[in-house]
Amino acid sequence: MLGAHPDDCDQDGGGTAILFAKMGHAVKFVSVTNGDAGHQTMKGTALAKRRFAEAQEAGKRFGVKYDVLDNHDGQLLPTLEVRLQVIKKIREWNADIVIAPRPNDYHPDHRYTGVLVQDAAYMVAVPNVAAEVPALTKNPVFLYFQDGFQRPNPFRSDIAIDISDVFAQKIHAMDAHTSQMYEWLPWIGHYLQEVPKDNAGREEWLSKSRSVKITSEARSSLEKWYGSEKAAQVKHAEAFEICEYGAQPDDEEKKRLFPMLGME
Ligand SMILES: [Zn+2]
Repeated sequence: MLGAHPDDCDQDGGGTAILFAKMGHAVKFVSVTNGDAGHQTMKGTALAKRRFAEAQEAGKRFGVKYDVLDNHDGQLLPTLEVRLQVIKKIREWNADIVIAPRPNDYHPDHRYTGVLVQDAAYMVAVPNVAAEVPALTKNPVFLYFQDGFQRPNPFRSDIAIDISDVFAQKIHAMDAHTSQMYEWLPWIGHYLQEVPKDNAGREEWLSKSRSVKITSEARSSLEKWYGSEKAAQVKHAEAFEICEYGAQPDDEEKKRLFPMLGME
């Protein structure tokens, strides 16, 4: 999973990552920027270091590897240099599945992370590009994280994963991003006064404020994959859209790639 900032994959795909990790699959989060702009009082190298440490702790709690590329936060552009970094990360991991934001987003770093991964989606298989890392012999399946943006086209829920059983673990892992969950995001969102002071209170508050409402599209997708009875009981879910540029799985292949689908 690739995100723009060290906490993006966590929010958008963290529950799915936990489920994969619990089944013994190797999962990596890659933050394309180092997060060195995301704070109201800290900045630069000191902030990047703090966020790297938080990402490592979150990675442990999720059960995933967490890489952070050293590009400045808030200044990401879809350059050839960063595209090659992304291609190399996908190849080195020998990824079967790659998940990234859609290129429609309010935040330019999110948007360009989406573009960078789209730009890599064919090139990972081209041996003469970034030739120092062997090209993949099969193109992975690329997917997008869920978002609510409507233009130019709304998110389509192709796959929805029931993460109810691991939601508490997801929140506990996100709690590792202290600088974001309890300082920066509440500050920029004007709700800093809501943040509890004690650790237990904080995590409980986080589980309320970070819970994502299941859209009717995601609910329909859950019904497709889990059956309507089970889908009706799902409390927390993460949905993904299949990108047109990588391998195109049929439903059997989707079940193989996401073995938690339809499992009791
Ligand atoms: Zn972000």
